[in-house]
Amino acid sequence: MNKKNFSENFNLSNYTTVKVGGVAEYFAQPRNIYEFSNLIKWAKLNKQQCQIIGAGSNLLINNILIKGLVICTKKMKSLTIEPYSGIVKAESGVMLPTLSNSLAKKGLQGGEWAVGIPGTLGGAIYMNAGTGDLSLANNLISVKVINKKTLEKYEIEKKDINFEYRYSPFQNNDLIIISAKLHFEPNGNFEKIIQTTKNNLKFKKETQPYHLPSFGSVFKNPENNYAAKLIDDMGLKGLTIGGAEVSKMHANFIINNSSASSKDIFELITVIQQKVLQKKGIYLQPEVRMIGFDYPN
Ligand SMILES: Cc1cc2nc3c(=O)[nH]c(=O)nc-3n(C[C@H](O)[C@H](O)[C@H](O)COP(=O)(O)OP(=O)(O)OC[C@H]3O[C@@H](n4cnc5c(N)ncnc54)[C@H](O)[C@@H]3O)c2cc1C
Repeated sequence: MNKKNFSENFNLSNYTTVKVGGVAEYFAQPRNIYEFSNLIKWAKLNKQQCQIIGAGSNLLINNILIKGLVICTKKMKSLTIEPYSGIVKAESGVMLPTLSNSLAKKGLQGGEWAVGIPGTLGGAIYMNAGTGDLSLANNLISVKVINKKTLEKYEIEKKDINFEYRYSPFQNNDLIIISAKLHFEPNGNFEKIIQTTKNNLKFKKETQPYHLPSFGSVFKNPENNYAAKLIDDMGLKGLTIGGAEVSKMHANFIINNSSASSKDIFELITVIQQKVLQKKGIYLQPEVRMIGFDYPN
């Protein structure tokens, strides 16, 4: 692999939706699976750490030098939809809003909820992203992966992936998601699907600080409870540390008021956790993934 395939000392702040990030020692954006595989292989052969980011919409990256190679999948966006069978094949960098809108245009049902989630397919599988009872796992047939330690490539069927609420086994193994096969219901009511998709996006924009820099919900909902309600009950909306603020619109969102550092955001997360634990006895587990922090992800 030659040098033009990646950048050195690359600032990641524009590659996260919260607009905060450190500097990657090496950074690359492959355009296809071949380039992606070669980069992962390069990291292994050169004994470099290899970390994957999608759209960075669930990521807090510490403002330090991130050693090794960071690969962003956003340019790997091949998407094939078979309207009659409902079978979809997509590379890991396909954005969920693109997927959702493309499904709606082809009259396929089941992806309407995903229109307002600004992440990639790979990130959504890794996070088991969803809303209410709906999640991407429901539509998954199989996932193609590469093991970054052994460089083996293979396909895993959905039945062999133990998805849980905002959890997939990819959070604890060495597998990198290359692409996925999914199924959505064909022959749906075209107009109804388009309308539901539009309404879902409208609802998101009305209930979340959608256009401000954030990483979506900061904490997972504890069993039989809502993180946003617990934080709101504590009167923490509007609480600020440096440039980071607990959103006044949605208590489970932290927004970057233009100049937040990763430290501001991390401290705000910790303060919220401490206050909720002290008063309510509930530990809020972050949904957001962290890179470059000493935090058990
Ligand atoms: C405004 C807003 C609204 C949101 N609403 C929702 C919502 O309704 N529901 C919801 O569940 N989430 C929501 N999110 C959070 C986020 O969009 C999802 O978690 C999304 O799936 C993350 O995808 P990503 O591509 O941005 O992943 P990233 O943030 O880039 O990465 C997240 C994790 O996935 C890993 N990863 C990414 N791609 C791969 C890959 N190809 N192979 C292996 N690992 C990979 C990364 O290493 C990282 O650990 C929201 C975020 C925002 C900013």
